[in-house]
Amino acid sequence: MIPNACLICRCPDASTVFSYETPDIYERAVGVSEEGYRRAWVRCTRCGFHYSRYGRDPQIIHTIYDHAYRDQAGGFRRESAEATFERIVALPPAESESARRAETILMDLGELTADGVLADARDRPLRMLDVGGGNGIFVYVFRQQAGRNASDWSAAIVDPGAQGQFVERFGIGYFQRRFDDAFAAGLFHLITMNYLLEHVADPRAVLQTAAANLATGGALYIEVPDALAFQRRPPEDDIFNACHLWMFDPPALITLLSEVGLSSLRMRRTKSPRGHYALSVLAGRP
Ligand SMILES: [Zn+2]
Repeated sequence: MIPNACLICRCPDASTVFSYETPDIYERAVGVSEEGYRRAWVRCTRCGFHYSRYGRDPQIIHTIYDHAYRDQAGGFRRESAEATFERIVALPPAESESARRAETILMDLGELTADGVLADARDRPLRMLDVGGGNGIFVYVFRQQAGRNASDWSAAIVDPGAQGQFVERFGIGYFQRRFDDAFAAGLFHLITMNYLLEHVADPRAVLQTAAANLATGGALYIEVPDALAFQRRPPEDDIFNACHLWMFDPPALITLLSEVGLSSLRMRRTKSPRGHYALSVLAGRP
């Protein structure tokens, strides 16, 4: 079973929290077989970090994430990315999770800049980049909320999938590629990662790339499922699905951020109306 050591502290010892005897819906969709199947959520004995150990071929996670997960997370609707986008951006802001998230980020950025914690970037428009948000919803709604706050932002998405290219019609940039160390598109004042880090094989590399692409006074926003779910939700909850590799807690995020020279400026633990426990952090170089 891999990985055989903790992502955060590299300790090999861990205790099993939940274990599964059969592939879940996402694994079945990409042909992971029942034979010899093993998967478990474990907790690092040294630092308490929760991560998934599995017997399947590690490459298969990319197949799951790029195809099965995105299709099935949409509830088997098979609706086009553009149709989903149009349906969701039409929601009134009060019903939109993206609008609330954007509002909170803009409020925090405004306060941190006014207090002098973050340097005031004088460039306009400010530049934001969303990593992995290929459905276009968050970036579109963010720019809308920024407009309501009379702040001037340009917005772009970086995502390996092609499904979000239609956003260019709305003046949103779209980089169809992986967010790796070869990514260079100028510096950004805000980089956002919503429900990305729990899926990627190497969160350190992704954070390193984010740190390298932040402008002076820039901030990185990360939102992930909260490891608190282990105490609040049953093993069969979708939050523990096979596409999730890591479940972060505040100390784990703080450790990874400090390794790339960033520190937490605002951290929140929340429960969404749909009952999901979320951990979010706005980080920067004060
Ligand atoms: Zn550990």
